Amino acid sequence: MKEVLTNPVSGYYMHRNVIGGNGDFITSPELGQLFGEMVAIWCFNEWQKIGSPIPLQLVEMGPGHGSLAEDVLRVFDRFGVRNEVSLHLVEVSPYLSQMQAQTLCEKTIRPSEPTQLYYQLGTTAKNIPVFWYNSIQDVPRQFSCFLAHEFFDALPIHKFQRTEAGWREILIDIDPAADTVKFRYVISRMSTPASKVLIKADEKRDHVEVCAEGGVILQHLATRLEEDGGFALFADYGHDGSKTDTFRGFRDHQLHDALVDPGSADLTADVDFSYFKTCTEDKLLTFGPVTQREFLKRMGIDIRLQILLKNCDEKQRENLLLGYHMMVDQDKMGERFKLFSLFPSVLKEHLIRFPVTGFADS
Ligand code: SAH
Repeated sequence: MKEVLTNPVSGYYMHRNVIGGNGDFITSPELGQLFGEMVAIWCFNEWQKIGSPIPLQLVEMGPGHGSLAEDVLRVFDRFGVRNEVSLHLVEVSPYLSQMQAQTLCEKTIRPSEPTQLYYQLGTTAKNIPVFWYNSIQDVPRQFSCFLAHEFFDALPIHKFQRTEAGWREILIDIDPAADTVKFRYVISRMSTPASKVLIKADEKRDHVEVCAEGGVILQHLATRLEEDGGFALFADYGHDGSKTDTFRGFRDHQLHDALVDPGSADLTADVDFSYFKTCTEDKLLTFGPVTQREFLKRMGIDIRLQILLKNCDEKQRENLLLGYHMMVDQDKMGERFKLFSLFPSVLKEHLIRFPVTGFADS
């Protein structure tokens, strides 16, 4: 999965635009300004509740076209937050990092001699500095608001099947019976290092997908939030430890067999938020997962929609309503997408008194 998606030469994400009408899938931040605005208000509000510590680093992992970051910066600017904020993007795709620069920056440079941890640097029209990194580990250690939208579902998973002999890892092999090169799933004969360490002792399911790379990022974030302060908000296809076989491909907005023509389709697996909780348990407070529908409604998307509808022409009205329904309807993204947030444990008392917005009825 990692090779297929992010191999520097032929990885799916690396050299083309895969998101949007002409791509393979559409995402909420690309459906207009509503989603980004709700996320921005959430960030601004949680930041204010803990006393607006500055400087504030906004960090986004896997920013796609840069639309979510653009919406967040615009809302922060509207609330008068400018000089105190910087934007840090974690992106492995050279192609998408250029698209992000076009969306966000007036000018960008790529240092030819990388003496810094970032590989690209730019400034927005409002003079906000923007930095690009290959890994979250490279982002400077400071108070940060971390965002990730449809990022964790793109990280590689391990798949395991319960058998009479115990847990076995599902591997991918070349089908010896086929005339041309064709891949197939096989069950490993013996236990593997991953099947020995990644399955919980009390696991109830018979088939499990574990995103160990996501777990490593979560542990890194846990240390940072604990030592440097900050909070995080993730949105993704996901569940709370109930789903089993979710690995799939998407091409041209249709489901696509993940083993056919690898590199030509997006590969994704639902995020298991219960696994994220076990990775951070002792260090962090976690909230969610809640459905995208619940989150957006609690954040006031209906009121914002009404305001925008008052000031638009017929075409804009159509687009706004289309985007709104895609995001919140139960049979569209409203139910399958989940929001999940992380805060350092020291904020426990504070968050009991002033609960995290969007995650519980107020
Ligand atoms: N957040 C955007 C894009 C989602 S697609 C949106 O919702 O519209 C996934 C994004 O994560 C892309 O920008 C892709 O290039 C990036 N990505 C995938 N694997 C990554 C990795 N291992 N490290 C950093 N970025 C990654």
